[in-house]
Amino acid sequence: MRAFALLAALLMLSAAPVAVEPGDRAEQMQEVLHLRSEQPEAALDLLDHVLGQDDPDPGAETDPENLAGLYRLRIMLLRGQGNYALAMTDADRLGQLAQWLGNVRLEAQALLMRGTIEAEQGHYGIAMEQFHSARQLLEGTDHLEQLAVVYNAIGMTHNFADDRVRARDYFELALATARQADDDFLIATYKGNVANVLAAIEGPDAALPMQRKVLAMGERLGDVSIRILALANICDLLVDSGDLDEADRACPHAMAEIDSFGGSRLRAGIRLAVGKLRSAQDRPDEALEVYEDGLQIARGVVPTVHRELLVLLAEMHDRMGQPGAAVDRYRELILLRDENLERDRQAMVEELEVRYQVDRSAAELQLLRLDADLQATRIRLRNALLIALAIVLIITSAAAVVALRAHRLQSRLREQLAARNNELEQAVTRISKLARRDPLTGLLNRRALEEMADQELARKRRYGTPLSLLIADIDHFKPINDRHGHAVGDEILEGLGRRLRESFRTSDLIARWGGEEFLCLLPDTSLESAAAAIERLRADLKKHPLETGVGPLHIRLTFGLVEVENELHAAILRADQAMYEGKAAGRDRLVSRPNPAQEPHG
Ligand code: GH3
Ligand code: MG
Ligand code: MG
Repeated sequence: MRAFALLAALLMLSAAPVAVEPGDRAEQMQEVLHLRSEQPEAALDLLDHVLGQDDPDPGAETDPENLAGLYRLRIMLLRGQGNYALAMTDADRLGQLAQWLGNVRLEAQALLMRGTIEAEQGHYGIAMEQFHSARQLLEGTDHLEQLAVVYNAIGMTHNFADDRVRARDYFELALATARQADDDFLIATYKGNVANVLAAIEGPDAALPMQRKVLAMGERLGDVSIRILALANICDLLVDSGDLDEADRACPHAMAEIDSFGGSRLRAGIRLAVGKLRSAQDRPDEALEVYEDGLQIARGVVPTVHRELLVLLAEMHDRMGQPGAAVDRYRELILLRDENLERDRQAMVEELEVRYQVDRSAAELQLLRLDADLQATRIRLRNALLIALAIVLIITSAAAVVALRAHRLQSRLREQLAARNNELEQAVTRISKLARRDPLTGLLNRRALEEMADQELARKRRYGTPLSLLIADIDHFKPINDRHGHAVGDEILEGLGRRLRESFRTSDLIARWGGEEFLCLLPDTSLESAAAAIERLRADLKKHPLETGVGPLHIRLTFGLVEVENELHAAILRADQAMYEGKAAGRDRLVSRPNPAQEPHG
């Protein structure tokens, strides 16, 4: 149904009115138009003559516009014969002529014809290129009819490529443009095409009312081609919808009309529909007859209908138990297929190429979108990373600052600590020094002397040198304090300390042993030598009284002197005893006690 209807519609592409030439040429043209459907060969011969193709003819057409009209007519006739190669040559000539004339409308028409010829051979890809080139030439110009024709052709090609939705869009565009151009012929034709594609999308019932409108328009316009095409389509739709009674009324009438006025396509096409009707009515003999009829018309002229008829015939013969005849039809089909195989293959490749281009554009667009998404995601991710990095950096630098501060604090603390330690050490040294010294006199204290005495005792033991020990106690010191005050007493103690140091050697150990009591350990000193030193001190104190705040004061001391044997405390005890003996004996004197081993017994 589709192949029939749309091929028929394609024919309409070039059914645009052909200008009737003025003067004596007009008669020849009328003749051509009259002959074209019934005797296309004769029409062609006549055209060849007019165009000066057969013989150089002095009367041949030379006006370019007229020439273009003649070419258009001959292309139509050649296509009708299935002579696509010659038709194409004429289309090329028409294109060259249009360019030479600088005529956009004619150039678009040449492209349109080239496209139509390609589409008829199944070369949809190439056809589409031609149609779109024509569309680009015409869009924006005031050649609205021509533009409508181009839109229609694009719709046709989409339809052949089974893209019904796009086909409908372009048919509707063609219809709208035809309305803009206010061209009833085109409006009716394209309405018919919209109806056909609607039948394919929504089914025959959706298309029927529209097709009836087209028929009415054709009748009103008095246009035979529109009328018979609408009749053919209505018959086709009725058969398809299964309304056999209505089809039985419409189809024979349509066939009669088409046989009177139509070309081979429509005549073959209506037989396809009527044959289907008879078949559906279970009248196989009649169906077979109509199909055979159609086959004679279509053979070598309308390849698509030819093929479809062969298939239907083969099936019909098979159904009627005539396998031989069925095989014959199939053989013819195979031959036809072989012929067309390469052509179909090429068409398919071209169509695929067109689809591929479209798909690729869509894929590229999708890729671009994906890429944009990816970029956005990447930017988001990078921002997040930067933020994270910034946070890490801030934390790290904060940590570094803290660490640095801690380090500085630590080293400052360490320095402070070292300073403190140093101070402390000094203090300790000072304190320990102090601890070993009597603060008032600066002499050794009792503990220091006891410690140092060990070394002296060791030395004495090792070398056998003499070691003397002396205890000195101020006589009647209490009354001095009482009379002059404690401060003066202190002055006396201090002054005495100095005199003791001056009187003995630096190697001698001099300590304040108690309140006004002193102890001296004199290494490498015999009792005699020690006694001599004490006597010098006593004499000095007598000669030079100690200076005090209340003037020089005379003091006297009692001394107990012993030689140390092995043990310090024993020696101290003996020195103490000697000293008390001196006190008892009247004070202000030295009592010397030699080593008990050396003492005479008794
Ligand atoms: P004697 O001749 O018997 O030793 O009589 P004395 O008064 O010296 O003896 P006593 O032991 O009775 O008195 C010692 C006095 O020494 C008592 C105390 O006032 C005085 N004295 C002890 N240590 C200090 C001191 O550091 N400074 C002063 N100013 N007086 C001291
Ligand atoms: Mg005393
Ligand atoms: Mg005393």
